[in-house]
Amino acid sequence: MITLFVNASQVVTCAGPARGRRGTEMNDAAVRTDVAVAVASGSIAGVGSIADLRSRFAGAEEFDCEGGVLTPGFVDSHTHGVFGKLRYDEQELRAAGLDYMEIARRGGGIHSSVRDLRQRSEDELFALAERRLRRLASFGTTTVEVKSGYGLTLEDELKTLRVIARLAKALPLRIVPTFLGAHEIPLEHRTSSAARRDYIDLLVREMIPAVARDRLAVFADVFCETGVYTVDETREILTAARGVGLLMKLHADELTSAGGAELAASLGATSADHLAAVSDEGIEALSHANTVATLLPGTMLFLGKPKQAPARRFIEAGVPVALATDFNPGTSPTANVSLILTLGVSQLKMSAAEVMVAATVNGAAALALAEKVGQIAPGFSADLALFDVSDFRELPYWYGDNRCVATFVGGKPCYARDLAVT
Ligand SMILES: [Zn+2]
Repeated sequence: MITLFVNASQVVTCAGPARGRRGTEMNDAAVRTDVAVAVASGSIAGVGSIADLRSRFAGAEEFDCEGGVLTPGFVDSHTHGVFGKLRYDEQELRAAGLDYMEIARRGGGIHSSVRDLRQRSEDELFALAERRLRRLASFGTTTVEVKSGYGLTLEDELKTLRVIARLAKALPLRIVPTFLGAHEIPLEHRTSSAARRDYIDLLVREMIPAVARDRLAVFADVFCETGVYTVDETREILTAARGVGLLMKLHADELTSAGGAELAASLGATSADHLAAVSDEGIEALSHANTVATLLPGTMLFLGKPKQAPARRFIEAGVPVALATDFNPGTSPTANVSLILTLGVSQLKMSAAEVMVAATVNGAAALALAEKVGQIAPGFSADLALFDVSDFRELPYWYGDNRCVATFVGGKPCYARDLAVT
């Protein structure tokens, strides 16, 4: 079946090389007007004038974009989408002056999500996550990375990853699973350095091989941060993951500059994420690597941190920058990628074109999917989002709003809302 998407006021194609965009490349979202998009067998078959496409694809169905803006579906490359209880109580504790690490030391933070998730069944977690990921889809996301990391035992991590696999089957979204057994040192392993060592052995010798054997994850990720995993521990864990064929990600330099960016570059990680406290050496190291810097400005906003990642310095150094929600119950409970685009412009000082590229093609690069999704160009999967705005710069402009009308994954409807609502 062939469908022509017609009457879009703009098509933000992001067309160009199938890899993370760097430097001035990021400022070109390849926006086109007066074009239609042909979709055949789930892929983009052509982008061109409506007359041309109608003659090339005679008899094609037409989808009327009604003057909206058509973009590649957002690629949200960093979420913790499988969790149980909400953590609004911590938001007030922070407002009262407690910081993230202090809340964690008191057994809150990730530890409270861990206690909660361990008690829940796979079915219960699936039902909760399904609703939450549908909400993500409603904001224009068509690809979402989902991490484990609130289990922190072999059994509970595998349970979480099985939930992610079920979500990938049940939902029209494209879902990329990541094993984050190294999200924290679980409390029961924080009692001594030997107990801590036991958990790292468990990760390396049992959990990572089991995840690879059951093909439950594409990526392995480690929270490399002062007070969580050291650079040496992170290297050991990710090297084990790489050894069994998993791709690598790091939570790096979020709160303190601990050498995470340098490690990501030296390991050849696909992405280094957060980076609000990255050092000059870290930026320099990433500029010589193929690692995407995934920035999560919603997290810093929600935590009330004054410091955001130095997006401009990354871009000037030639590091590909992606933007993602970090959707999670403790530090970034938002599904709204357009809001992240707003923060990209107003906090990270990026242009509207740069934030679009960051949330599409560079998000795809952060998931090793840049050859498949992230742009509206022939041969790419027809993963599309339609917004009821007439200029793509309205997406970061109407902050907090949701202008998404419909999304498609592989040409098939993923999300739709009534066009009459404006
Ligand atoms: Zn995270």
